[in-house]
Formats: sequence, C-alpha cells, structure tokens
Amino acid sequence: MNACWQIFFRLSRPAPPPITPNGASLPGTRTRPPRHLADLDPAERRAAAAELGGPPFRGDQLARHYFARLTDDPDEMTDLPAASRAKLAAALLPRLLTAEHEQSCDRGLTRKTLWRTFDGAYVESVLMRYPGRVTMCVSSQAGCGMACPFCATGQAGLTRNLSAAEIVAQVVAGARALARGEIPGGAGRVSNVVFMGMGEPLANYPQVITALRRLTEPVPDGLGISQRSVTVSTVGLVPAIRRLTAERPGVTLAVSLHAPDDELRDELVPVNRRWRVAEVLGAAWAYAGATGRRVSIEYAMIGDVNDQPWRAGALARLLAGRLAHVNLIPLNPTPGSRWTASTPAATRDFVAILEAGRIPVTVRDTRGREIDGACGQLAARKLPNEDGGLVTLAPPVPVPRETSA
Ligand code: SAH
Repeated sequence: MNACWQIFFRLSRPAPPPITPNGASLPGTRTRPPRHLADLDPAERRAAAAELGGPPFRGDQLARHYFARLTDDPDEMTDLPAASRAKLAAALLPRLLTAEHEQSCDRGLTRKTLWRTFDGAYVESVLMRYPGRVTMCVSSQAGCGMACPFCATGQAGLTRNLSAAEIVAQVVAGARALARGEIPGGAGRVSNVVFMGMGEPLANYPQVITALRRLTEPVPDGLGISQRSVTVSTVGLVPAIRRLTAERPGVTLAVSLHAPDDELRDELVPVNRRWRVAEVLGAAWAYAGATGRRVSIEYAMIGDVNDQPWRAGALARLLAGRLAHVNLIPLNPTPGSRWTASTPAATRDFVAILEAGRIPVTVRDTRGREIDGACGQLAARKLPNEDGGLVTLAPPVPVPRETSA
C-alpha cells in the first residue's frame, strides 16, 4: 500500500466537446491562443492598454493584479474605473486554462492539475511542496514530439506549442493556491519551477524564453522567482542549447542523457540520432562555462537496460571534472511500457561508481507517482466523465503542428 490518497473531483462543467479525440483543433481552425498580458513585456503592455483607449499605466495596473495579487477577476480590480475593468480584463487577461480535474497525494502536498486550453487541448502541471520550498512542474507543449519510448507524453505525439502566457498561467495558478492557503502547510509561494512536464521546452524556444522572463522578472513585472531556481530540461536540442547559452537567462539547464553511449541513447532518446552524446554534452559544458551554473544530467534508471556498472563507469568518465550533477530518476511506470525500474541494489551500485569518480549524484524522489504525476507520466489522458469518474482518451490524432516564430 502506498501512503497516498487521491481525490478526484469536478472543477467545472463538462467541457465543450473536444474537436478531436485528443482535444486538438481541426486543421484550418484557429490554434494561436488569445493574447495575454503575460505574453507582453512592460512596454508592450502599456502600448496595448493605450490601444484600448486608456492611459498606458493601466497596463502596469493589470500586471500588478496578475503577478502580485494573482488575480484576473475584474471585480477585484477596484483601482480601475468600473466602466473599463471588464474591457481591459477581457482584452489582456483572457482565461487561458480551465482546471478540468485535480488529483492530490502526499497528504495534499503534491497536486496534479489537468488543464483544458482555449482550443480544447489538455496539459498537466504538478505542484510539489517540500519543507522550505515549493516546486511547480510545468508543461511547455501539449504533448511532445520527441518520442522517447519510456515516456508517456512522448508516446502521444505533439498537439501544439503552448504560448508563454499558457506556461506562466500554470505557475500563477499554483502561486494562487499557495497564497490562499489551499495547500497544507500554510500560505506560501512558488520558489522553484521545473520545465519537466509535458513537452520539449527547447522545441518551443521563443515562447519558453518569454515565459522565463515573466517568471523571473521582479514583481509586479513578473513573478519574481529567482533565475537559479528555474530549471529547463531538454532532450538535447544542440542549436537551442547554444542559443540559450548566448542569451544567458541564468536558469539551470538539465539534460536528459539516460545513456552514456550513442548506441543505447539512439533508442532511448531518438533525437540522439541527430545530435550525439558528445555534441550534446559539449553544448551543455559551454552553457555551464558561460553561466557558471552546474548542469543537471537526468538519467532514468531502467532495469537491465541502462543501469549496468560499466555504463556507470562510462558516465563517470564523461562527466569527470565537469560542472555537472547527476539526477537518477527511478523509472516511473507508464502504460504499456516493456521496461521496469532498476532494483535498489543496482541503483546503489550505480551511485557508488559515480561517487567513486567524484561525480555529485542524487536519486530523485518519486513524488506524484501514485497520481501519474511523476516524470514521464504526464499524458493528459484522463478526463472526468459525466459521473465524475475517469475515462481514457483514445490515442491522439496527428494534427499539423504550429510552427514557432
Ligand atoms: N522533454 C524534456 C522535459 C520533460 S520530462 C526532457 O526530456 O528533458 C522530464 C524528465 O523525465 C526527463 O529527463 C525525461 O527523460 C524523464 N522521464 C520521462 N519519462 C520517464 C519515466 N517514465 N520515468 C522516469 N523519468 C522519465
């Protein structure tokens, strides 16, 4: 028995029928989310407020409501003229995500939310409260196109990129729940954000960069989360890592390595056929050199697949003397997967070999596993039915992907 309890409850009326089984828009229909304040920088917000016929500082006022007071309800915006509140909020604070379903475990300290987007796509985010910190795990895309065979999201394919504001909205929702004392442990704030939910963040580069700005800009221009407390995790899209290095956003980079050798990595992370282990790590070390920040090397521990002592030795040699830290993730179960997690003994041996090579290593906890909210389990496949029970969606239908600017 796990020590976890779950709650399933309805948060809203049934969604309008999704347009396709996986909730994606039909080809030719609008797929760009409505413009939102969080897509805009302070100057653009002022310009947008002026375009709506008001003074530019209305943009700043709206930002204060959203990022400092965590509200988008025009009725609470009593510093705005009553006549223009609704118009301003409708134009700059459209509701982007509707909470469709929530599950909690760890006595309420872990909470996964299934969100429906304006066009009927589904994404998930997970809030995890630990002593002294709260981490929000956010999605950057609906689905994912990277096709890693051990990851539930990767099995479903890509539906579309999220907008910057759709990413930020997941964090704002968590911040709001904490500020209102909805999470056990008293009122709190989001201290960490990890881009480890659905999607490959660096495949949605421009929107992710904008979201990083909004998350880290001081309140009230943004949420004021410290750059070093934000982690962007990637399968290893080398040109995008280089671009990130040039932009120096100061965030922590995580690389999903999962194998030290190209032969196995080709299978576990198919994009490895395009950018090999040496090239991915080369880009990661350049990032570490430019930012002074330790790169996190993610390694899912898969029994008898990538957990052999010789692979631990090979990994230790690759990382020796580098600004790196290894995060071992016991493989989380995903539907239909032929793989299982490494045994505790194999994990201990793997850790010991890395430590002998003076490589800092931690084994990640499996927070959220019981509610399919742990790494690689986010698939947005469960939707409440009319009775509040759960239905499983059919596999998604491929749709044309929105190209990023
Ligand atoms: N696309 C990004 C971020 C999403 S997943 C990336 O790949 O880095 C966050 C981490 O969870 C990645 O390291 C991913 O490889 C890992 N992961 C995916 N499926 C998993 C599973 N079933 N068990 C454990 N970790 C998994």
